[in-house]
Amino acid sequence: MRYSQMLLPTTKETPSEAEVVSHQLLLRGGFIRKLTSGVYTYLPLGLAAVQRVAQIVREEMNRAGALELLMPMVQPADLWKESGRWQKYGPELLRFTDRHNRESCLGPTHEEVITDLARRELQSYRQLPKNLYQIQSKFRDEIRPRFGLMRGREFVMKDAYSFDESDEAAGRSYDRMYEAYHRIFQRCGLEFRAVEADTGTIGGSFSHEFMVLAATGEDTLVICNECSYAANVEKAKVAPPVIEEGGEPLQEMVRVETPGMKKVEAVANFLKAAPSRFIKTMIYLADGEPVAALVRGDREVQPVKLKNLLGAVDVELADDETVFKKTGLPVGYLGPVGSPIRMVADQEVMAMRNCITGANEKQFHLTGVQPGRDFSPTVIGDLRQITAEDRCPSCGGSLRLTEGIEVGHIFKLGTAYSEAMNATFQDRDGQARPFVMGCYGIGVSRVVAAAIEQNHDENGIIFPLPLAPFQVIILNLGVNSEAVTVAAEQLAEELRGEGLEVLLDDRDERPGSKFKDADLIGIPYRVMVGKTFEKEGKVELRRRRDGHTETLAAGEAAGAIAAMVKAELAASAHPEN
Ligand code: ATP
Ligand code: MG
Repeated sequence: MRYSQMLLPTTKETPSEAEVVSHQLLLRGGFIRKLTSGVYTYLPLGLAAVQRVAQIVREEMNRAGALELLMPMVQPADLWKESGRWQKYGPELLRFTDRHNRESCLGPTHEEVITDLARRELQSYRQLPKNLYQIQSKFRDEIRPRFGLMRGREFVMKDAYSFDESDEAAGRSYDRMYEAYHRIFQRCGLEFRAVEADTGTIGGSFSHEFMVLAATGEDTLVICNECSYAANVEKAKVAPPVIEEGGEPLQEMVRVETPGMKKVEAVANFLKAAPSRFIKTMIYLADGEPVAALVRGDREVQPVKLKNLLGAVDVELADDETVFKKTGLPVGYLGPVGSPIRMVADQEVMAMRNCITGANEKQFHLTGVQPGRDFSPTVIGDLRQITAEDRCPSCGGSLRLTEGIEVGHIFKLGTAYSEAMNATFQDRDGQARPFVMGCYGIGVSRVVAAAIEQNHDENGIIFPLPLAPFQVIILNLGVNSEAVTVAAEQLAEELRGEGLEVLLDDRDERPGSKFKDADLIGIPYRVMVGKTFEKEGKVELRRRRDGHTETLAAGEAAGAIAAMVKAELAASAHPEN
């Protein structure tokens, strides 16, 4: 491909709307253009990167025995009513009505459609197991689309669904996908972890997320330093507190004036007490209803744990105005004693004694509060976010926290969908039984963004070789010299003959701007054909990743470069080696 004929609109300025580096570089490098909020056009370079990921995914899914198909994007509401998700899914589901007044939606995921297909096409245990997948655009009306390809409203996903005759067989299907996902992300050249995860709206009993480690990740992971335990903090269990025998004598409750002090820190300073003495009262709206979540003063509520504890569909922190409107209570002075709203307490709170809390009265706090004596929550459970100071829930070892980008998610679904939708097969005894299902997603377009978050420098993207839209870029640095131009074109031709994807920068531009563009778009190998060729018949090869440079005789360059690229690709294609 000739640069002069490409649609590759690079820019110098960092677009102000782009907060994270992958979004900035994808725009600056001419990979994507925004159509409307969370909806992007993939320009040729962006599409090529997405296709690289898709191809690796496809190869590994096929290797694992999955079958590719393609389902419609438009889905009838009736199927979603059968599964119960028409009500449950909430505003992320884009619903619409057609000219016949039939309700439909754009597919955010395809459990309903595939379960409907299975109940029609799979009748007998002899046809099982089956794993069916597609690579397709999904639509989710995300509340906060942001970060470019990271969280779009329309994005490319690979979604797979397995059907088995028993839990045991479904477990094997799950394990096969777990392994396939490891191969996929290794082949993409990414640093990642598989972590235990919450099951969310998709439902089901068991799941792992695949996380690309990057500082801009929206998820926090907890990783054990001593065993293989790794989990999303949304899921990571905190061990119940050890209750000390004896301890301090119980105090009486006392009301103290704390003028203008709303934050734990301020009151703690004023009363000369540690924040761990406090009970923090946070008001959340659980499916619209206010609930008070209680944690120790130096802890944080983990909203997904709160949601699961309450069995709610949606939980969000209430802002000050909503708190006042819904409860009439003074923000900053909330507490559990005499609270008129439902209370959920972290297990640790119930082991505290002589606590400090808000008094539900402006400018006042209470000291000497005893959980159980002075207030009783409706629900008690594991509610707080795990910290690096906690112990590993699996081995008791020390923990560390890190940020991750979720690029894949695998679930054991069990029979939730097949029972709801009456999708059955005849088992070995001739009995009708519901399929045991699993589902497996990969954010194909998000992988491109995650790869950039993990691999870039101040000059631009550094694509892992397997994801690069072109493996080699040749810079013709003497467009006015016939000899240089012929040599550059010949090298491009030879490399293509070796099966490589090559971009030939044949533009009449200064070398400096060619270097800048090549760095920005992140092509792993750059060959410069210019003065050294004219003088000595040599070209220069520069590796984007580490700046390593070598000089090659023009006649030998194609063979040497092709060997390098192929060796590197082969190493990533066989991750076990
Ligand atoms: P998240 O927690 O990030 O919203 P999710 O749990 O909703 O993700 P799944 O339903 O498991 O995601 O979807 C499968 C995969 O699709 C995810 O692992 C992620 O990589 C990708 N994905 C999900 N939502 C988006 C989005 N809005 N934009 C781009 N990719 C997405
Ligand atoms: Mg989501």
